[in-house]
Amino acid sequence: DQSIAELDPDIARVLDRELARQQRTLEMIASENFVPRAVLQAQGSVLTNKYAEGYPGRRYYGGCEEVDVAEQIAIDRAKALFGAEHANVQPHSGATANAAVMHALARAGDKLMGLSLAHGGHLTHGMKINFSGRLYDIVAYEVDPTTGLIDMDKVRELALAERPKVIVAGWSAYPRQLDFAAFRAIADEVGAALWVDMAHFAGLVAAGLHPSPVPYADVVSTTVHKTLAGPRSGLILCKEEWAKKIDSAVFPGQQGGPLMHVIAAKAVALKVAATEGFAERQRRTIEGAQIIAERLQAADAQEAGIAIATGGTDVHLVLVDLVRSELDGQQAEDRLHEVGITVNRNAVPNDPRPPRITSGLRLGTPALATRGFGAEEFTEIADVIALALNGGADLESLRKRTAALADAKPLYADLKQY
Ligand code: PLP
Repeated sequence: DQSIAELDPDIARVLDRELARQQRTLEMIASENFVPRAVLQAQGSVLTNKYAEGYPGRRYYGGCEEVDVAEQIAIDRAKALFGAEHANVQPHSGATANAAVMHALARAGDKLMGLSLAHGGHLTHGMKINFSGRLYDIVAYEVDPTTGLIDMDKVRELALAERPKVIVAGWSAYPRQLDFAAFRAIADEVGAALWVDMAHFAGLVAAGLHPSPVPYADVVSTTVHKTLAGPRSGLILCKEEWAKKIDSAVFPGQQGGPLMHVIAAKAVALKVAATEGFAERQRRTIEGAQIIAERLQAADAQEAGIAIATGGTDVHLVLVDLVRSELDGQQAEDRLHEVGITVNRNAVPNDPRPPRITSGLRLGTPALATRGFGAEEFTEIADVIALALNGGADLESLRKRTAALADAKPLYADLKQY
């Protein structure tokens, strides 16, 4: 019974080096977070050994008495946290959750209307070579070219013209809240089901800092690992009338055996998400994004061609628009990497540069808020980002400033990975 260091030093080294990388750099990928140690423990547990096809009390395998308890706790916590009538905690990821949602709500060939990928939507909302684009007839709505906002009158017009079977509201790169009541009214008017994918903002909803889609949507899907700060995985909430269809769409429709170690880790994360400490962290998350948006609109940033899509943010991310900047998205991402800040380049609506280069950056604050950043640290990081992008300081001096921030807010201190 060897430890990983003895059995597989190559992989042990990856674990060590990745921990060091996470500790040393400042993580600003909007879809990432740091899970509590208790989540790592649940996920690295013997529950990984267990097959449990089916649902608690209705399994196709023996020996499920203990994992049944974990899954039922996860279900109960998800329902309580979001005020949902039904929860399915088995999706392996956000993408498989979304595949199951469409499996439950529509048939192949039916029409799905979602936000265009190029305007901040997700692959699973209708990208051509994704399952969604291949199986369903896709209609995409876009953001308004001048405001950068989703115009609900235009969404209604398109829905009336196209009569989709399903409307999806949700995004991967959009810095504002959605009007769920308006989406509901449009869905009712055209006889569509309303699906909300709250993957990005679920943590904000849990903390009561963002309107909840649960009262409005037929089905709500989410990832658990973004603002919600749990293990990489998915979760589906729905009204009771959809419960049977959702459950059978997840298993056996899309998946086989659920990942019980991940489900146990989800339960732990959902417990944390109901605490005041979690809500306070979400408040710092939004405050940090607003500080960054504001400081990246200062005069020197504007002179360097840096703009902020929609002029600000209501959520945990800022979409930086570099269309008028000499730096493209790839160069900006690389430059921030050099100073110790990890971000991803991201297309902006009507991006003139190709998708692999882009003219934007998506900056997210959840991981830094988890690390303990507050207004002071977010102000400092905003200034470092602005200087890196407008060429106002040498990169070495900026790298020292990010290292000082990382040292001041240590991550996973004393963590023993094995
Ligand atoms: N839905 C949205 C809105 C997302 O942003 C993402 C991930 O980026 C997903 C679904 C997919 O999640 P996963 O990467 O777990 O498949």
